[in-house]
Amino acid sequence: MNLKISTQGHHDIIDITDQVAEIVQKSQTKEGTALVFVPHQTCAITVLENEPGLIQDLKDFLNKLAPPKGDYRHNTTGGEGNATAHLLASLFKPDLTIPIENNQLQLGAWQQIILIDFDNRPRQRQVIVKIIKGQ
Ligand code: ZN
Repeated sequence: MNLKISTQGHHDIIDITDQVAEIVQKSQTKEGTALVFVPHQTCAITVLENEPGLIQDLKDFLNKLAPPKGDYRHNTTGGEGNATAHLLASLFKPDLTIPIENNQLQLGAWQQIILIDFDNRPRQRQVIVKIIKGQ
């Protein structure tokens, strides 16, 4: 199952928990795992509490970690000006695995599944969700 997601880039953070939970519910999986994977090199999947202050804190943190106005080779050789997006994506992961019990994602109370788009422009993204049944 693929999700299609429009992002604004620039560390856009999108909560996809409800969409993943809906896929799990439709799959009628008693026990298993949900694999969430983003096949784009300037994106990541992780968990975060969906709280506006914290979302801004993460964006500020990412800008400190990889300052947008830094001197990056990829911005001259690659021509897209998105070196920081690649660097940040390499620190995160493109995937997340979540246990399923009784047709429910076993996320903690404050763990929301988020897609982060580090790229420097709006993009159309896809996220692949695979449900693996069994223990
Ligand atoms: Zn690039």
